[in-house]
Amino acid sequence: MAAYEYETHDYDVVVVGAGGAGLRATLGMAEQGLRTACITKVFPTRSHTVAAQGGIAASLGNMGPDHWQWHMYDTVKGSDWLGDTDAMEYLAREAPKAVYELEHYGVPFSRTEKGKIYQRPFGGHTTEFGEGPPVQRTCAAADRTGHAILHTLYGQSLKQKAEFFIEYFAIDLIMSEDGVCQGVVAWKLDDGTIHVFAAKMVVLATGGYGRAYFSATSAHTCTGDGGGMVARAGLPLQDMEFVQFHPTGIYGAGCLITEGARGEGGYLTNSEGERFMERYAPTYKDLASRDVVSRCMTMEIREGRGVGPNKDHIHLNLSHLPPEVLAERLPGISESAKIFAGVDVTKQPIPVLPTVHYNMGGIPTNYWGEVLNPTPENPDNIAPGLMAVGEAGCASVHGANRLGSNSLIDLVVFGRAAAIRAKDVVDPKTAVPTPNKASIDAALSRFDGLRHAKGSLPTADLRLEMQKTMQADAAVFRTDRTLAEGCQKMAAVAGKMDDIKVTDRSLIWNSDLMETLELTNLMPNALATVVAAEARKESRGAHAHEDYPDRDDANWRKHSLAWVEGPAVRLAYRPVKLEPLSTAEEGGIDLKKIAPKARVY
Ligand SMILES: Cc1cc2nc3c(=O)[nH]c(=O)nc-3n(C[C@H](O)[C@H](O)[C@H](O)COP(=O)(O)OP(=O)(O)OC[C@H]3O[C@@H](n4cnc5c(N)ncnc54)[C@H](O)[C@@H]3O)c2cc1C
Repeated sequence: MAAYEYETHDYDVVVVGAGGAGLRATLGMAEQGLRTACITKVFPTRSHTVAAQGGIAASLGNMGPDHWQWHMYDTVKGSDWLGDTDAMEYLAREAPKAVYELEHYGVPFSRTEKGKIYQRPFGGHTTEFGEGPPVQRTCAAADRTGHAILHTLYGQSLKQKAEFFIEYFAIDLIMSEDGVCQGVVAWKLDDGTIHVFAAKMVVLATGGYGRAYFSATSAHTCTGDGGGMVARAGLPLQDMEFVQFHPTGIYGAGCLITEGARGEGGYLTNSEGERFMERYAPTYKDLASRDVVSRCMTMEIREGRGVGPNKDHIHLNLSHLPPEVLAERLPGISESAKIFAGVDVTKQPIPVLPTVHYNMGGIPTNYWGEVLNPTPENPDNIAPGLMAVGEAGCASVHGANRLGSNSLIDLVVFGRAAAIRAKDVVDPKTAVPTPNKASIDAALSRFDGLRHAKGSLPTADLRLEMQKTMQADAAVFRTDRTLAEGCQKMAAVAGKMDDIKVTDRSLIWNSDLMETLELTNLMPNALATVVAAEARKESRGAHAHEDYPDRDDANWRKHSLAWVEGPAVRLAYRPVKLEPLSTAEEGGIDLKKIAPKARVY
C-alpha cells in the first residue's frame, strides 16, 4: 500500500453530515461549549434536506385544536405499531419546542394573519386519536421548508464557532480494540489530503440510502455512508426492510411529481392505454394511498403492461387538463417534466415509476441518539462514543412507515437530543484519546485498495446492476419468490465488488474513487434491506408481502437487526419498546389509546 500521511485534528465532538440533523446536532453541541467539527461531503446547504418542500410536523395548534398526544397517536399508527413508544412520545412532546427554537434561530416560516407560524394539513395527521377531522399540523416556509431550515442552522452554527470541514469525505470510523468509537478518517476531496478526526463523540448524520435503488427522489449523494461505516465496524442496522415508495417519481431522473398532480385530475395508464387503477381501487382510483398505487403500478409492469421500449414504467397523464389549470396549479411539475423527462405536459404523458422516497430503517439508537449494539442479554446496550441522528438513524419513531412531515421534525428533535445528551456524556476538560492506529491503517488500506482496483467492472456498471436488482426484487410489491431471488442476486452482485475497476488513480477531485467508496456503502445497506425483507413473513407498513398479506403482531412486532459481513447478512431481532416515558397519571398518553388495531384510513 502507498504510504498516506495524514493530519490529525482533535475535537470533543465530530458530526459527520450537514443536513438538517447534522446541523441541528452541530449547533446544539457548539452552543454548550463543546469543541465541535462538522464534516460534510457536500456544501451544507446542498444536503438533501434542501429538497424538502412540504413542511415539519408539530402540534402547535395554530390553525385549530391540536395536542402532542394526538401527534403521538398518529405517529404510532403511521408506524404500523413498530415504532418505539418512548421515542415516539419524545418526538411528539418535544416537537413544538424544537420548532419554536427554529423560529427563534430565524427560520422564515410562513405566517397566519395573526402572525403565527402557518400550518398545513398532511396525510395521516388527525385529531382526537384518529377519530376527529384532519389537523393542520405541518409548519411550512412556503414550499421550501427544508431550504429555510438548512440556511438558518448553518448560519447559527457558524455564529457558535462550530468548525466546518466542507467537501471532506468520511471513509471509516476509527474504533478502539474494545469497541469505542474514537473518530473518523476523512479524505479532502479538493486537494487529496487525508485527515484523522479524533473525538470523544462521533455523530453520524449522513442521511438515507435511496440511491441503492434505480429510481429515488433523493439526491445522488444519499448513499448510506453512515450505515456502511457502521456495518464495517461490526455494528448492526435496524428495520432495513422498510423502504417508503412514492408512486410518481419521474422515470430515470426520479424527481418527485407531487400527489397534487393526481389531485388535480391526473391519471395513470399502462401500455394498453388502460386506466388500470379503476380495476384495483374502484372508489379512490388514482387517489388511493401511496403504497397501494405504487403496488398496482409495479404489478402492471411485472405482468408486461409497462410502457416504453423496456416496458418498465407507467404514464401519468395530465394533457386532458385545461392548460390554465396546469399553468396555475402545477407550474413546478410542468417545469420538472420538461427538464427531466423532456415532456410537454399539455401534449404528452409523464413517464413515472414508484420511486424510493425514504428509509425508515438505519443505525439503531435510543431516543438520545446513542447508537445501540444490542446483545441477546441487553437489547439496549450502547456502542460508546457513537451517535446517529436523522434519516441515517433509527430511533425508531417511523417504525414500518413514516408520515409526511415527520422526518424534518425527527431531524431537529433528535439532533437537539443528541446535543442535550452529549452535555452529560462528553467531558470537555479531558484530553481527546489517541485514536487506534490499527483502525486508521485498516481504513487507509481499504481506501488504497479501491483507489488501485484493477478489476473488470466499472463502478457505474455494478451500481446499476445493484439498483436494478433492488428495484425489481426488493420493491413495493414483494413475494417469497421475488425476495428469495433478490437475496440470491444481491449476494452475487455484492460478490462482484472484488472485481471492481477504478480508472482514475489521482487523489484530487477523483469522482470515480468517491463513487466507488459510496458504492461500498450502498452495498451493505442494500443487502440488509433485501435479506431482512425476505425474512419478515408478514405485511406491515411499507413492507407489503403478497404471500403474507396481514400484520402479525404475535410473531413480528419486533425490530430486525442485520449485521452485514461481506456479501453475507446475519439477522437477529430486538423487542419493540412498549413503555412510554410518562404514565397517564404523570400526564402521558393512556396506553389503551395506542394499543394495536387494524390500520385503516
Ligand atoms: C424530494 C424530497 C422531499 C422531501 N420532503 C419532505 C418534507 O416535506 N417533510 C419531511 O418531513 N420530510 C421530507 N423529506 C424527507 C427528509 O427531507 C429527509 O429525510 C431529511 O432531509 C434527511 O436529512 P438528514 O439530515 O438526515 O440527511 P441529509 O439532508 O441527506 O444530509 C446528509 C449529510 O451527510 C453528509 N454526508 C453523507 N455521507 C458523508 C460522508 N461519507 N462524508 C462526509 N459527509 C457525508 C452530506 O454531505 C450531507 O450533509 C423529503 C425527502 C425528499 C428526498
